[in-house]
Amino acid sequence: MLKKRIHGSITGRWLVNSMGIVLAVLLVVDVLALVIFSNYYANAAEQNLTTKLESVISPLSRYQTASGLASEIESTVTEFDEKEKYELIAISTSGEVLLTSSGFEPSDWLDLGGYEKALDSSDGEYCETLTLSSGEKVMCYTVILSSNQSEYGALMLLTSIDLIDNQIFRIGVVLSISLLAIILLMLFAGLSFVRSIVVPVRQMCDISKKYAEGDFRERIDPKTSDEIGELAESINYMATELENSDKVKNEFISSVSHELRTPLTAIKGWSETALEMSDDPETIQKAMKVITGETERLSEMVEELLDFSRIEDGRFTLNRETCDILAELGEAVLIYGERAKSLGIKLEYFEPEMLPFVYGDRARLRQVFINIIDNAVKYTNSGGTVSVEAFEKNKEIVVLISDTGVGIAPQDLPKVKTKFYKANHTRRGSGIGLAVANEIVEMHGGNLTINSELGKGTTVRITLPITEQF
Ligand code: ADP
Repeated sequence: MLKKRIHGSITGRWLVNSMGIVLAVLLVVDVLALVIFSNYYANAAEQNLTTKLESVISPLSRYQTASGLASEIESTVTEFDEKEKYELIAISTSGEVLLTSSGFEPSDWLDLGGYEKALDSSDGEYCETLTLSSGEKVMCYTVILSSNQSEYGALMLLTSIDLIDNQIFRIGVVLSISLLAIILLMLFAGLSFVRSIVVPVRQMCDISKKYAEGDFRERIDPKTSDEIGELAESINYMATELENSDKVKNEFISSVSHELRTPLTAIKGWSETALEMSDDPETIQKAMKVITGETERLSEMVEELLDFSRIEDGRFTLNRETCDILAELGEAVLIYGERAKSLGIKLEYFEPEMLPFVYGDRARLRQVFINIIDNAVKYTNSGGTVSVEAFEKNKEIVVLISDTGVGIAPQDLPKVKTKFYKANHTRRGSGIGLAVANEIVEMHGGNLTINSELGKGTTVRITLPITEQF
């Protein structure tokens, strides 16, 4: 479980991927540095030994006679002045130790294999590292004294390399401590960096779950202004929008229910009245009129809801043909003429002589005009005016529907075309009429814009492209 958590988490992945690689690289560098250092010291020691022995051997070449050479070798070995650091050994031609600079007999501790190997080598030299029986590590350099008549066959120079080993060990310790310090530093810095991402991400996860459950009360505190802070801001924005749309959706359901209930109440009421007064033809006539009107209103509303759902899931299509929209506009004005009059609203129609044709869906365009005129009448108080006009401008047909009604507040104006949005709750309506109208106009390649001033009135401007086909 813990293993799974570590592997699945950002911290775990960072530990395995980044820190794992860094650790491996640092280890390789550490080992490489140690190898390079020990090689360097070994080479330096060998170089030093070679130079020293050569400085001992080179004066010997002056001696031509065997006795002269032998006595010079003897004096060189016995009087060797760096006895503390080196041991100089003279070896006989048969491979036995004849003289040592320290004066001790070395046969018990020294392996003379180096002499044999120097004899076998092409240049008559051999350098090796030996561990003495005392446990001390020495470097041993042997040079064959070639073509001389004396009993001396070779000179051997030894020096302890324990110091070098100590030095390398110390370097190893320093490197390991530095490595550990670097790893701890990186771990600390990396973990606090990873925490600065993981902690807010976890918080966002928890809060998002609450949002998913419909609880939008909490907000994330964007502590930084980096990408994580931006993400927190976006989530907060999303929560506000979700909360709003949740509110709008609830309002929509309640207003639609209310909208449906009003005509149903009227229908129920008038049906009961008609039943009770079945012998009064005048009441029955009136009841039937109301019931028919309210049923029509109900079916219009259901149609609007169905259109809206078709728009939402992309099933909304147009039956386009070349049409004269003046007929549709005229019909919409006619439908509202009576109602406006009964509400004390003046409905003016500035009908043009003729308009170019539009390639569109007659029924849908009529639906748009009805919707906008319905809004204009609905949001205008008694004594107000609704005016409708249409004209051609810049190869477009423009339809203006203006009213002297309640108007729309500036903060609501950008939102009234969005679905479910109701700026005014005092009048009936579901808040989807303008959204549907706007969609239909845009599907025709046109535009629906609204200008309004609170308390003064509203003008809806619809533009539709003129058809090229006849
Ligand atoms: P509704 O069915 O609520 O009228 P609409 O989508 O048709 O829904 O309109 C959305 C909102 O736009 C309305 O709630 C109303 O506040 C505002 N509105 C639309 N037309 C007018 C208008 N002519 N005058 C004032 N407000 C309007």
